[in-house]
Amino acid sequence: MDLYEYQGRELFDRHGLPVLAGGVATTPDEARAIAERLGGRVVVKAQVKVGGRGKAGGVKLADDAGEAVARATDILGMDIKGHTVHKVMLTVTADIEQEFYLSYLLDRSNRTFLCIASVAGGMDIEQVAEETPEQVAKVAIDANRGVDEALAREIVAKGGFPAEVADQVTDIAVKLWQAFVAEDATLVEVNPLARTPEGNVLCLDAKVTLDENAAFRHPDHEALVDQGSVDPLEQRAKEKDLNYVKLDGEVGIIGNGAGLVMSTLDVVAYAGEGHGGVKPANFLDIGGGASAAVMANGLEIVLSDPAVKSVFVNVFGGITACDEVANGIIQALALLEQRGESVTKPLVVRLDGNNAEAGRAILDAAANPLVQRVDTMDGAAERAAELAGAGV
Ligand code: GDP
Ligand code: MN
Repeated sequence: MDLYEYQGRELFDRHGLPVLAGGVATTPDEARAIAERLGGRVVVKAQVKVGGRGKAGGVKLADDAGEAVARATDILGMDIKGHTVHKVMLTVTADIEQEFYLSYLLDRSNRTFLCIASVAGGMDIEQVAEETPEQVAKVAIDANRGVDEALAREIVAKGGFPAEVADQVTDIAVKLWQAFVAEDATLVEVNPLARTPEGNVLCLDAKVTLDENAAFRHPDHEALVDQGSVDPLEQRAKEKDLNYVKLDGEVGIIGNGAGLVMSTLDVVAYAGEGHGGVKPANFLDIGGGASAAVMANGLEIVLSDPAVKSVFVNVFGGITACDEVANGIIQALALLEQRGESVTKPLVVRLDGNNAEAGRAILDAAANPLVQRVDTMDGAAERAAELAGAGV
């Protein structure tokens, strides 16, 4: 889960990192109250979960509360790279002498954590890394050791930070690591980490990504979820404990096992190219031991997506054998009818693996006009794509 800057800033503040006083506003009136409280001279920043707000005109300085209201009015409602601004953050303005960069992230390809530090901050770090790689220091962090003062000093030296800020940046590097670990983050990024003319080093931006797999350890993180932006189908699926991700195609997908579902997405996208470019509408893994009730819940979610024109149920029988899954599908359709959901979209079912023959016989015997049986994965993907392509 990505946080808004104001949430990241509050998180930094709780972990003792130097941030500026501020507040968040959804209206110009609220912006005025915050600007007055902060003494008038403020920076007004668009709160959207996308970088490059500065360049897009989403970060503006104001000399007094009146100007802050004008800037907040300009920025609220602005579109930044497809994200509408609903909130602005106002903070006390810092004068900037120099901009640095500092981050920790999960480095999946090297199975470790990584610190990236640079004296060329303020800009897009990918661009700096491309144009002047010698200005970007990368230091692998051993999870067992973490970042102590000695390693922080090494980071500061490798990053080429000026001697007069070395102590402050060392302290920040240690605390930022502590915040990263304590909050189960996969990214904490400060850009710019700024030096003021008085020689103070401040975190002027806060980009934080939290690991949702660790949410059970952090009841307080629930409050950081942006309810307005949660997809309603994903929300309902989550309430039913389903592993569902909304995508933007037309073929609903249900499978058992994440790997099988991932490959199902691929074959459907490939087959869809021959049928007007239809694509998978979702990822849904109902897991190894899926009961009829779980199948019904899955079907209900997938069928309630108005974009879905056909559904591909792709099951490889293992612990749960295909005859159980076939019964589950038939019962699930009956369950949905009982719940008052009239099912009208065609289902293409492919059963393979344990007891496949028995499962197929059950589907044939039920003779539900909406259910079409295709026994190969490619064939079923082709049929589901064809139905979706022809559907209205
Ligand atoms: P981003 O463009 O989305 O990464 O947003 P940032 O929070 O990094 O802001 C963009 C730029 O605005 C920074 O690189 C700074 O140059 C400038 N900026 C942000 N906060 C302040 C501030 O308090 N004072 C001044 N003078 N400039 C600021
Ligand atoms: Mn930034």
